[in-house]
Amino acid sequence: MTRKPIRFIDLPAQQERIKAKVDAAIQRVLSHGAYILGPEVGQFEAALSEFCGAKHSIGCSNGTDALTLCLMAKGLKPGQAVFCPSFTFAATAEVVAMLGATPYFVDIFEDTFNLDPASLKLAIAQAKKDGLSLAGVIAVDLFGQPADYEAIEPVVADEGMWLLCDAAQGFGATYRGRKLGTIGAMTATSFFPAKPLGAYGDGGAIFVDDDEVNAVIRSLLVHGQGTDKYDNVRIGMTGRLDTLQAAILIEKLAIFDDEIVARNRIARAYNDGLGDVATVPRVLDGCVSTWAQYTIRTRGKDRDTVVASLKDKGVPTAIYYPQPLHRQTAYKHFPVAGNGLPVSDRVAQDVFSLPMHAYLEADDQAYIIDSVREALAA
Ligand SMILES: *Cc1c(COP(=O)(O)O)cnc(C)c1O
Repeated sequence: MTRKPIRFIDLPAQQERIKAKVDAAIQRVLSHGAYILGPEVGQFEAALSEFCGAKHSIGCSNGTDALTLCLMAKGLKPGQAVFCPSFTFAATAEVVAMLGATPYFVDIFEDTFNLDPASLKLAIAQAKKDGLSLAGVIAVDLFGQPADYEAIEPVVADEGMWLLCDAAQGFGATYRGRKLGTIGAMTATSFFPAKPLGAYGDGGAIFVDDDEVNAVIRSLLVHGQGTDKYDNVRIGMTGRLDTLQAAILIEKLAIFDDEIVARNRIARAYNDGLGDVATVPRVLDGCVSTWAQYTIRTRGKDRDTVVASLKDKGVPTAIYYPQPLHRQTAYKHFPVAGNGLPVSDRVAQDVFSLPMHAYLEADDQAYIIDSVREALAA
């Protein structure tokens, strides 16, 4: 029997569901022609606020710029430290270094892959000793699960720092009744096509509560313009969200709640099918993940062998992340908490991610589960 190829993420299946609506939305933009900051951008921002409860939702060019704009709004500068995990996508720390400040790497929890507040406290004490000024913390909602904010918030508040949530993978998730977008001083997300809420190109958003920060970020994303458009009052960038992407995202956001439910059903089936042979991800009590990735650990089996055997069976996998940032060429000179980040190093050796999207069919998932069980038993 030849199987229909299994996709790691199935964007065509999603497109089939909403194609008529997306086609019509694109045609509306082509008809009115307001490609930059057209009406769909404001409509999408309003829909985002309605969805997550943020006071201000600001569309922007991508997730990396979303993070950068937040840091620029806080006036981040050289000599300041920003604490963030090392086990994350490069953009989390890249934006800090790009502004000349110091990313300070912190370890994570073994079972949630998210920031460990004990390691954060250690890093803070060291940074003070090293004479760095403490600016803020970027917590990452890795693989779609919110970081443990009740444990992180008091540490951040005690030091008078700001908290920026990198929800590039976690937008749509809930932490004990609070949706991402309403936690911390600022939240950044990405609409890169492969993220849980993805555009047909690049896109991102920022969520803030403070009116002043909202006004500054809206100025920064059009070159720092003031109330008089030809009087630029600060150094900014081109950071706008395209009208076309906003029009597409409006249609995708309309089905997002439904997709989050499907992703959680699929994650539960994976947990049930694999929990006895692999280390499966743990979701904190009272939290809902968006499952940007479904990531398991090999429990001592050689990962390369397992992944190669799955490839032979037609099961695509991915490794997020084979190297934590503090081991990478561009980042290895930045400081780390304690004598190293043992958990980040350890999980980077044995994690791999399985196909995860809202349209994964039950028989395909059963086949994936059987294949993973066989690969891990070999
Ligand atoms: C994808 C991602 C980003 C960057 O988003 P882009 O839209 O690709 O710039 C930042 N942080 C994390 C954790 C991500 O996964």
